[in-house]
Amino acid sequence: MSQSRVTDPFLEAAKEEARQGAAEGGLPIGSVIVHQGKVIGRGHNRRVQQNSVIRHAEMDCLENLGRIPPHIYRECTIYTTLSPCYMCSGAMLLFGIPKVVVGENRTILAADDFLRSKGVEVEIVDDPECYELMQTFITNKPGIWQEDIGNAGVYDLYAQAPIS
Ligand SMILES: [Zn+2]
Repeated sequence: MSQSRVTDPFLEAAKEEARQGAAEGGLPIGSVIVHQGKVIGRGHNRRVQQNSVIRHAEMDCLENLGRIPPHIYRECTIYTTLSPCYMCSGAMLLFGIPKVVVGENRTILAADDFLRSKGVEVEIVDDPECYELMQTFITNKPGIWQEDIGNAGVYDLYAQAPIS
């Protein structure tokens, strides 16, 4: 890995959320939403913590942000440490968020191309820590991971890295 890699402070903020999720015993996936150079919302996956079926990181981020004027979404970039699923991608499309920065999509490659097909700019960082956080979690709690993605990995609906 290049030592000259410049760390994006917004991806760092999403990674802080992911680490917090891991510390809480949940899935290590974080998300922030950025408007005009500022983080205006942040969150992490809380499926385990809140016994929730929809609290993926991006959904938690959007929910924590709360209701905002619709045009603001169209000026935002959302960051997520992991390739977004179809539920979260649907929310991004619903609100017209034009850009998503993805920490990594080696663990799972979900709706990246779907978002692109709808005109959303999708940037893949391939951040090693985002990947390691997920691999550690999946090794320790494979069942919770499969549940998080609706067993899509089990049924080969998403491209997924082999579980080591
Ligand atoms: Zn999701």
